[in-house]
Amino acid sequence: MNIGIIGDGQLGWMTIFENRKLNYKFFVLGNNPEAPASRISDRFFRYEDYKQFFETVDTVVVEFEHIPDFIFELLERYPNFNALKLKRSRIEEKTFLKSKGYPVVNFCYSYGYQLKEKIKDFALPVIIKAEKLGYDGKGQYFIEDLSQIQNILDNHSLEEGFIIEEFINFKHEVSVIGVRDFDGNKRLYPISFNYHEDGILLYNYAPFVDNKSVSQIVYSLLDDLEIVGVLAVEFFIKQDDTPIINEFAPRPHNTGHYTMDGSYTSQFENLIRAVSRLPLGSTESKLPTGMVNILGKSLEDFNVNEILKIEGTQFYWYGKEKKSRRKMGHVNIVDTDVSNLRRKIQSVLECVYSKNFSKV
Ligand code: ADP
Ligand code: MG
Repeated sequence: MNIGIIGDGQLGWMTIFENRKLNYKFFVLGNNPEAPASRISDRFFRYEDYKQFFETVDTVVVEFEHIPDFIFELLERYPNFNALKLKRSRIEEKTFLKSKGYPVVNFCYSYGYQLKEKIKDFALPVIIKAEKLGYDGKGQYFIEDLSQIQNILDNHSLEEGFIIEEFINFKHEVSVIGVRDFDGNKRLYPISFNYHEDGILLYNYAPFVDNKSVSQIVYSLLDDLEIVGVLAVEFFIKQDDTPIINEFAPRPHNTGHYTMDGSYTSQFENLIRAVSRLPLGSTESKLPTGMVNILGKSLEDFNVNEILKIEGTQFYWYGKEKKSRRKMGHVNIVDTDVSNLRRKIQSVLECVYSKNFSKV
């Protein structure tokens, strides 16, 4: 079978090497022939050669959501088109969730020129996010004083769309990754605790304290979005333990990288099993597992040996050009015991970032 992947980054890279054992061929459509997924694909196509790409592949999965418009239109006959369409606008995504009765933050839409007026309906602080094209905290502004709006207007056009969101003083952030096949069979990976810094995931681990309403939400969202493949759902857990959906992602997710070493079937394998009509694999964990993201570092900035000396670690390096805050690689960690696992996550963080971390 010929699998097409839209996007050339590390999620596509892991999708390919996790599924080589299935003897499929993988074709990547993207910008950069040197990018992680492109380098190990059976063939790389540039966006302008999309016609040849679509002629070559039997099905298509995506590894990111910000797909150029002229390509997006062609995805209608492949899985998850509706979910991907909602993800093109933070407003459409949240409006859909709200209309189906899912818990979301209070939010409203605003053009740049309306921000100063519309923010008056909210108690401060708020988070203002660009409606389109944001990821890893990019295009987001934490506003605690009205004077800070000018900074947004200095960096964006007055005609640009934004979402204004109430700021949630959450107890913690968690996510769950679900998988669903063409027949509507569903499975969930365990709930994971996620720690973000400046809007970007730094580390996570699973299992975390179970939360029945979180699982129910993910089960029903898999059906409502008619997912075939994987769906990640990010939550804020409020101080009273009730969940609010932050966002969803109809694709493999950074908080599911641990599934490569900790689960019987990784998120990347279950994605490909689902779209190629193979039975879904077990989403259970072999052992408690966590992950540390390596952000904005090159291989010279830390010592890989020190990391791999920590028993139970696996090192993944994407081979991308270093940029500030960019996801450059990650470390997966497994241990028989969650407390030991957390100690090891802290040690890995200290190896990578050469500073002390408060207790993980
Ligand atoms: P991205 O698409 O960049 O992941 P998110 O909407 O998930 O954007 O925001 C990134 C992070 O910023 C979240 O994981 C959370 O830590 C913080 N954040 C976003 N929105 C809110 C909010 N309304 N209240 C509190 N924290 C938020
Ligand atoms: Mg997010």
